[in-house]
Parts: sequence; structure tokens; C-alpha cells
Amino acid sequence: MEPIESRPKIFVKRVDAESESLLYDIAQLKNLLSPGSAIQHHVEQFEVLATRILVDEIDSMYDSDRWPDLDRSTFKSVIVSLLASNWVVLRQVALQRAPGNPYLNVLQSLDDKSEEDYERLRQALEDVSGLKNLSNSPPLVYLGPIARLSVFDEKGPCVISTPFGVVNQQNALAQTLSTQTIPHEVAHAIFEEIPDLLDELKFRVSIDNKPSAVEPTKKQRAMDSVIFNWLNEIIADMAGTALEGEAFARSAAIIMTVPEKIIARADQTHPAPLLRPYIHAQVLKKLSSDAAASFNKSLDKGTSKFQSQPYEGLPAFIDVSLEELLTRLVEIVDRIWDTELKTLGGSSLGKVLTAAAHKKVSKRAIDELPNWGDPEENQKPEDEVLRLLGPVELVSPLPSPQLFESEVCCWVGAQKCCPHTLLVS
Ligand SMILES: [Zn+2]
Repeated sequence: MEPIESRPKIFVKRVDAESESLLYDIAQLKNLLSPGSAIQHHVEQFEVLATRILVDEIDSMYDSDRWPDLDRSTFKSVIVSLLASNWVVLRQVALQRAPGNPYLNVLQSLDDKSEEDYERLRQALEDVSGLKNLSNSPPLVYLGPIARLSVFDEKGPCVISTPFGVVNQQNALAQTLSTQTIPHEVAHAIFEEIPDLLDELKFRVSIDNKPSAVEPTKKQRAMDSVIFNWLNEIIADMAGTALEGEAFARSAAIIMTVPEKIIARADQTHPAPLLRPYIHAQVLKKLSSDAAASFNKSLDKGTSKFQSQPYEGLPAFIDVSLEELLTRLVEIVDRIWDTELKTLGGSSLGKVLTAAAHKKVSKRAIDELPNWGDPEENQKPEDEVLRLLGPVELVSPLPSPQLFESEVCCWVGAQKCCPHTLLVS
């Protein structure tokens, strides 16, 4: 009888096999995709990256001083897993674009929209604020749970997911609503590339930074702390409105018509549903007074009866109504619009968004897409590990992820599970 191999040897073989099958899977899918398509370009870039890491660099990436708890093959196994977890996302995006997929046309139009929105905002930031290093790899859209995630760091295209409602031919409203998640997510994608923007805004716009003879009250401070937690969502909503105008604002206002019992609620990072349309309204006012007037009229009709409700996101001893919170929110949106920021090259977000609103861009040819599989200049192989650990983050554009989960069936009209939403057909 042959002796059984030692456990470490079996482990090494298993990791090698995993690495090989990952590369095999990438190559197979690459060959399945239409030659010369954008998705094939990206899969090819992933292949360059994975091959370089798994075949050429894995040995020099390993450093026993830096990872004293990992032996060489466990380290390799971790790297294979990191690559595989990113591949799972890109693979799904690629499979949805395989020839013969019934959603090809929808996806193409979503990609076009995402590229157009992204480029308008990116070019506005370059023109107005002189920000030249923003990724010029337009995001890819896929049908799936609502979220936005990056494939690796800013060098690869980020991936925007939009709910399946976008392909529901029977429900034009679900289609419109699902499509309107794109400008919001595009804004997240771009603003994440300007890491100090949020901190600077928080500092410059906060109540403590306003010269005032009167000390802010506890209540004012509490309201500010709530609103500043929403800042990331507020600026994405502002950019979405600048990019897509009244249509975006209107669909966001419909999203707000969630069940009455949660209208005043918010999670840590997303504004209460009732308040969000007022962010859009404020931006519309800056860009087009006609659009703002008609939007405001329908908005007030739908929301005025809720405004006296208490806001439920604060400790019980601080009593704040939605109306009070709304007043401060609108004030903050105005200040965000006007405040000149170092992170924006001395310009204000208002100037950038006004430029983006009027920007016209043309579609990029496939051969102009950037390569992202190669290492950055002067990058050491071991830093590649950090790149692999880069941001893969879920960001929901809706009032809260939990809320979305319970509402998604209503959106796509799949079942009448939440009878009091206005979205049920
Ligand atoms: Zn968001």
C-alpha cells in the first residue's frame, strides 16, 4: 500500500489546484464573451492581474516577517480566496453579458447611462476642481441586489448593481425607479475617490464652524450629528439630481412613499425617507426654477401631513420633529452647495454640480478603456496584497438596506406583500 501523503502536502496540492481552476475559469469566460467588447476587456484585465499574482509574484509577495502566523501555502490560499471573491462579482457581471443573454440590450443601455453620468461628473470635477487622477474606467452595471461595489481599488471599473425591476417590461414605473439608482451610485463611486471630501465638508459646514454669538443648543447639536452621518448619502443625492434633474427627483420622491410607520425612521447613514426629496428639491431650485416649482408643489401635497411627526432616530430625551430636522437639513444642503473646499480645488460642490448638469460627453471607444491589470509604477509585489484587500463595499441608495429587503418585492411587482406602499400596482 502506498503511504498516505502528509497533510501539508495535500494542502499545497489543493491550493495549487484552486489557483489553477480560478485561472481556467477566467480564461473560459473570456473566450465566451464577444471579442472587442468592454466586458471582454475587463475580464482580460482581471486575467492579467490574476496570472501575474498567482503565477509570477506569489512567491515574492510572501513575507514571513510580515505575516508570521501564515505559512507559505496558507498565504497563497488567502490570496487565491481574495482573488476568487472579486472574481465572483466580475464573473456575474460578465455572465450577464454573455452572447444570447436576453438582458443584453437593457444592460447596454444601463452601462451607457452609467458611463455618461460618471463621465459628466468626472469631467466636471476635472474642469472645475482640477482633479485629474480620478479613475476613467466607467462603472459597469449588473442586475442584482441593490448595491455598489468596487472591483479592487479605483483602478478597476466599479460595479453598480441595479434591481431586477429594471428588466420588468410589465412595470414601467419599476423600470424607471430601478434605473434612477444609477446616478446616485455613480456619485458614490466618484466621491469615494476623493477621500477627504466628507471630512472637510463636515468640518466646514458644521454649526460649530459658524460664527455666532449664541452657543448652539443641545438640540441643534443633536440634529447636526444626525444629519452629518447622512452626509455621504446627501451629496450622492445632490449629484444624482444635478445629473438627471427632475426625473431623478420624482423617482426619489416615489421611493419615499414607503409604509407610513417607517417614514420618520432612518438608519445611521441614510436620511429618513420623508426628508430625502427635499434634498433633491433644494438642488433643483439651484439649477432650474421651473422644475423646482412643479416638483415642490407635488412634494408638499404628499408630505405636509407627516412633518409634525417626531423624528425617531434620536434618544427619547431629545424631542425633534421632522419639520425641525427638515429646516436644518435644507440649511445644510445650501451650505454644502456654496462652501468652497480645498478638496475640490477651492471650488464649491455647487459649482461642480452645475458644470456636471450642463456637461455633454461622448461615448468612449473600447480601445480607450484603461488597463488595470498591471501593477502601478514603482509598486512592490507585496503591496499587491493591499490592493487585493481594497474596498469592496456595499452601499445602498435606499433609506436603509433592511427597508429595501422588505420592499423589493413591491418594487418589482413580484407580489403584493406590502399593501400600503403606493408602488404596488
Ligand atoms: Zn447611497
